[in-house]
Amino acid sequence: MTNTATTAAEKPRVAFYWCAGCGGCEEAVVDLAEQILDVVAAVDIVFWPVALDFKRPGVEAMADGSLAAAFINGAIRTSEQLEMARLLRTKSRVVVAFGACAQLGGIPGLANLWDRNSIFQTVYREAPSTANPDGVTPQTSQPVDGETLELPSFADTVRALDQVIEVDYYLPGCPPTAKLIGEAVHALLSGNLPPRGTVLAPDRALCEECPRKDSKPQDLALNAFKRPHELILDRQTCLLAQGVLCLGPATRAGCEARCVQGNMPCSGCFGPTSRVKDFGGKALSGIASLVGSTDEQEIIRILDQIPDPVGTLYRYSLPSSLLQRRRIGAKSA
Ligand code: SF4
Ligand code: SF4
Repeated sequence: MTNTATTAAEKPRVAFYWCAGCGGCEEAVVDLAEQILDVVAAVDIVFWPVALDFKRPGVEAMADGSLAAAFINGAIRTSEQLEMARLLRTKSRVVVAFGACAQLGGIPGLANLWDRNSIFQTVYREAPSTANPDGVTPQTSQPVDGETLELPSFADTVRALDQVIEVDYYLPGCPPTAKLIGEAVHALLSGNLPPRGTVLAPDRALCEECPRKDSKPQDLALNAFKRPHELILDRQTCLLAQGVLCLGPATRAGCEARCVQGNMPCSGCFGPTSRVKDFGGKALSGIASLVGSTDEQEIIRILDQIPDPVGTLYRYSLPSSLLQRRRIGAKSA
């Protein structure tokens, strides 16, 4: 990925933007290490608020379609994120949903178990660490020194990026690996792009690239699910075979099984393969097939050992799932 002969004016112009996420995806760009020098040599980064002092009016002034690509990480929660996603869509020929939050809604999407009012009530009034005697909650408009300060609104529902704008490609992961980012940038620069809508990672289950795959039994009949801290895990044996809930069978490959290599189970951040619509549903169906009992009470006892089922099965994908959110009253704005 080199392009040293081009001048800055000739380079493809790209943007990076951070919506509702933790910042880890921005770190992942920095994790390109020396590869980032190739990226900087090959493209002209014209908008990257976390690293460079460009402002929104600068983007608004750009011609429509003048950006080769916008890499947008994070889910969509606020009106500002929605406006920026739409603006970057207009200015960009290619939009990449960068990371699990943008692709699937991600961990911030678990907030779809609540709504704006219940979140504000907990965070600004009830949390033990909150000191807020006047019960002030975020407002979208505030008078300051004779002027009115307008602030972004906070939606009831967290959305994945493709639920608010058209997305051309998806880079999975929490965050995506440097290898996948490098390959995606290379594909963009070379014009050697797969069909629109492609997830830029192998379309097979993680188990197929896992170094422990040979120890994964064909048939498992578990009568208990263990959490990693409850036992000393063998470093060579399939984690499912050890009774630990590893979501590798339901999860797209491409991360090189980094969590498993760290002796931790896969938690599903690469999302599903193209053959699966609902990651949590697929994972649940896989788990159900592992339960070693046909007795209803025993099945309930075994499954009860999975803590926080929604947080386990839909950790990265609740907004993009068939469920999307918990219904609270009639609202889901
Ligand atoms: S995908 Fe993971 S690393 Fe990226 S912003 Fe979301 S939580 Fe952070
Ligand atoms: S279940 Fe987990 S540990 Fe076992 S082979 Fe699949 S990814 Fe590897």
